[in-house]
Amino acid sequence: MPIRVGVARETVPGERRVALVPETVARLVKQGHEVLVEPGSGAASFCLDQAYVEAGGRLVADRAALCREAEVLVKVQPPTPEEIAQYRRGLVLVGYLQPHRGDEAIRGLRDQGVTSFAMELVPRITRAQAMDALSSQGTVAGYKAALLAADLCPQFFPMLTTAAGTIRPAKVLILGAGVAGLQAIATTRRLGAVVEAYDVRRAAREQVESLGAKFLQVELDAETAGGYARELTAEEKEREQVLLRRAICQADVVITTAQIPGRTAPQLIAAATVEVMKPGAVILDLAAESGGNCAVTRPGERIEHHGVTVYGPVNVPSMLPVHASAMYSKNIQNFMGLLQGEGGALQLDWADEILASSVVTHEGGIRHAATRERIEGGVK
Ligand code: NAD
Repeated sequence: MPIRVGVARETVPGERRVALVPETVARLVKQGHEVLVEPGSGAASFCLDQAYVEAGGRLVADRAALCREAEVLVKVQPPTPEEIAQYRRGLVLVGYLQPHRGDEAIRGLRDQGVTSFAMELVPRITRAQAMDALSSQGTVAGYKAALLAADLCPQFFPMLTTAAGTIRPAKVLILGAGVAGLQAIATTRRLGAVVEAYDVRRAAREQVESLGAKFLQVELDAETAGGYARELTAEEKEREQVLLRRAICQADVVITTAQIPGRTAPQLIAAATVEVMKPGAVILDLAAESGGNCAVTRPGERIEHHGVTVYGPVNVPSMLPVHASAMYSKNIQNFMGLLQGEGGALQLDWADEILASSVVTHEGGIRHAATRERIEGGVK
């Protein structure tokens, strides 16, 4: 028995992505699965209902029908309370669930008896690379951040030699050189800027330099065994601030991408530093949704602070819905491969490290330890 997969239409305002694009639907159908599609699911990503039908999907009447028939429901954004109310016991949900802060949805999924998997919790191991949505969407966000910053910048990025004089290239500083930061480096370099970058993980240096940017050296290494950054000590923060302040004041554009999983983003740019930046400088804060790397950032807003433009865009991957959806869809397809047993039927193998790490709710309980601890205070 193949799996009956349902594609839900996103309802969160501003979300333009879809969890499965028609190309991926065709692959799943070829593997023998049945794909049900809520009408209009892909419209904001320019994937028309007709394309889903041509790919072998079946349009259902509405969300109620989708939730009744699907065994596995795939989504981008966490479900709303109204959506959760339509889910039935035993449904498997795969999508972003914001395990560090999405308490209402997680409680709802637990109480409804839904088995939910969070794409954010897929471990960063080699076997899981093809289902790593944080990386695929980080790539999109980093690229788009570079373009948004270039658009706000009142000067050219490249060096130009013209009859009207020689233009010096813009100086771009990228803070945080993870997946998004590296893509922002690559994109601003392609636009011709002179790029410097900084990260607390020493391993980032080689990657930054391989993209033709200069690595800003602060004598510290805050990489944990899992490959993520840890929070800095007060003394380390102090040293970091001094070095960064100098580089920030020389930059025409600063793109910040620094994050610490499950925590508020580290503050790297104080209001006083913004106030001594070059007039016309731009700060593009990609960490706006998790608190911001700059003290004056307001999520979703573009403000002027002492002649500096500070923009904290939210849900940046959704601004490039075609490729963000295509990449996310591939991640979902690969994740689906873990949900199958004999003959392609739905089967959850809890011995699988990826499933065991990414499950949030199952059979009326919260399985992800840190989330359970936060929501239920350690009650099992
Ligand atoms: P992230 O979004 O959690 O953080 C972005 C960057 O901010 C990270 O590079 C982090 O080191 C940096 N940062 C945190 N605090 C900082 C501070 N105070 N100052 C400056 N920078 C700071 O990270 P991510 O992009 O998701 O990637 C995290 C790590 O996971 C990286 O090492 C990446 O290479 C690795 N990774 C591994 C795999 C894999 O093996 N499958 C896949 C993707 C990413």
